[in-house]
Amino acid sequence: MAPYYNELYGNPSSMYKLAKESEKAKEGAREKVAKLLGAKLEEIVFTGGGTESDNFAIKGVAFANKKKGNHIITSKIEHHAVLNTCKYLEKHGFEVSYIGVSTKGFVDLNELEDTINDKTILITVMHANNEVGTIQPIQEISKIAREHNIYFHTDAVQTVGKLSVDVNELGVDLLSLSAHKFYGPKGVGALYIKEGTKIDSLLHGGHHEKNRRAGTENVPGIVGLGKASGIAMDEREEGERLKILRDRLEKGIVEKIQDVIINGHPEKRLPGTLNLCVKGIKGESMILQLDYHGIATSSTSACMAGLEKPSHVLLAMGIPPEVAYGSLRFSLGRGNTEEDINKVLEVLPPIVRRLRAISPYKKIKG
Ligand code: PLP
Repeated sequence: MAPYYNELYGNPSSMYKLAKESEKAKEGAREKVAKLLGAKLEEIVFTGGGTESDNFAIKGVAFANKKKGNHIITSKIEHHAVLNTCKYLEKHGFEVSYIGVSTKGFVDLNELEDTINDKTILITVMHANNEVGTIQPIQEISKIAREHNIYFHTDAVQTVGKLSVDVNELGVDLLSLSAHKFYGPKGVGALYIKEGTKIDSLLHGGHHEKNRRAGTENVPGIVGLGKASGIAMDEREEGERLKILRDRLEKGIVEKIQDVIINGHPEKRLPGTLNLCVKGIKGESMILQLDYHGIATSSTSACMAGLEKPSHVLLAMGIPPEVAYGSLRFSLGRGNTEEDINKVLEVLPPIVRRLRAISPYKKIKG
């Protein structure tokens, strides 16, 4: 990325020689992203990240297909980039159905199919959940969408670069991705738009990205996204390593700490994600204590952290609010090692013991 911040600063839309260097780099990145997804070059539009891709897909399809219908279907466990976009559209004449999930976090396919009506223009269901990691049956949902001639968007921000994601195998019309979820830079992403999809632009202005996304492109960011896509293709076995580490962490925690609930599906889950509820204490208390030991964790999604509300994902999965408050999420990645797992297993049990000693849990358990 560095040369494109410095000596290769040309604007890719300009005519001079330096500009052509930027244009070439941008198109090279598009090739890598398209290859990663099994898409055509012209089906990839660069954006400012996952949130923008979700907004673009959902608002873009909604407004372009308004004459056909005003009904959108999504799930209760989507990221707020999807949920709040849907809420916004509700204020502008669209109707949105929010489908429930099972205790493991799978979208209820019967409810989804029963909710479709002749006004339904879009289904948007995430590929894998950012809090619990459950991987949705995207192929089954896309089959339902196709049978009813409805566009299907998936927010694949959590899966691209971590799992094998092929747009043709999944059968989706639109797919969002974000570079920083697979070791690329923040503030850059892409939207896959299947050829022939009727969609309005989100940003209006110049003719960038073939008239689909106005604004001078973030060339260094796009180059970083391309590089991250190339690396992801070369390192597909990383998931297996993460799964082994994650399973060791999970087993160790369950063995050492009583009254812990593991959230999400045991198998159909992102390999590096471990989300659990420790009964009797708040997730935030554990996060602060772990941070003191140099261990960075989360409770709900990073975007909602600091809000005094239990996770909407855990509540939708039927976890009682008093238990959901005790959620803690470990997201393992390339930098994590066996030693990190050992450290958590050494540090977390005494933290839980101390916090429980000063919580109502002690009075209940004695
Ligand atoms: N969708 C999901 C599932 C996410 O996990 C995130 C980020 O955490 C986003 C969308 C938003 O992506 P970005 O941070 O690139 O805007």
